[in-house]
Amino acid sequence: MVDERTAVYLSSLDIGNSQLLNEIEKEAIETFVPIIGRQMQNLLKFLLQLTKPRQILEIGTAIGFSALFMLEYGDKEACITTIEKYEKRIPIARENFKKAGKESQICLLEGDGEEILKGLTGEFDFIFMDAAKGQYIRFLDGALRLLKTGGLLISDNVLQGGDMIQSRFAVTRRNRTIHSRMREYLYELTHNEMLQTTILPIGDGVALCVKR
Ligand code: SAM
Repeated sequence: MVDERTAVYLSSLDIGNSQLLNEIEKEAIETFVPIIGRQMQNLLKFLLQLTKPRQILEIGTAIGFSALFMLEYGDKEACITTIEKYEKRIPIARENFKKAGKESQICLLEGDGEEILKGLTGEFDFIFMDAAKGQYIRFLDGALRLLKTGGLLISDNVLQGGDMIQSRFAVTRRNRTIHSRMREYLYELTHNEMLQTTILPIGDGVALCVKR
């Protein structure tokens, strides 16, 4: 992970986000909803400008911060399909999409990521995986089927604040299943011939994969 002093220095260079995003970020923090952190935000801004994806798929909407963020800093005409299963967060996300005037560009699908991915058709040039970490391996087949050749798959929180480099016995029993599933996921991302992958120790760790 990036050390504390480096993180503080880098955040001093951060030019921030739009007012609505700041409000939603504040709402998320106050209500203990986990959303992408500042380091991940900076990386996403860069990747969105670089690749200008038109069709984006997100797994893990929460209250809609990252979906609105991707529209703000990517192609203004982009369409986002985003999946969320926690019913309490869904109406809040819908309300935030409405406030931003972006409802027509965002399709929020309600339910479990794996099930929804199975029924999805079409092609996406940018897939952002940001749901329960122990589930990523279950989402992978569906995500790869839907990802265009040359498209990007971005997975957040893959190093779990440093837990992934520990032996499974050094993490709490509760986290062991997540630990072994995440290791399996990272092994698959780095050994699957369909993918070119790099794993960056930014935020809680991010895996970037291009579909060959
Ligand atoms: N991407 C959001 C952002 O940065 O604004 C944050 C997403 S939050 C880290 C993860 C979300 O994934 C939670 O709201 C959780 O309910 C949802 N989630 C977890 N497991 C899921 C699953 N199997 N299917 C769909 N959503 C899931």
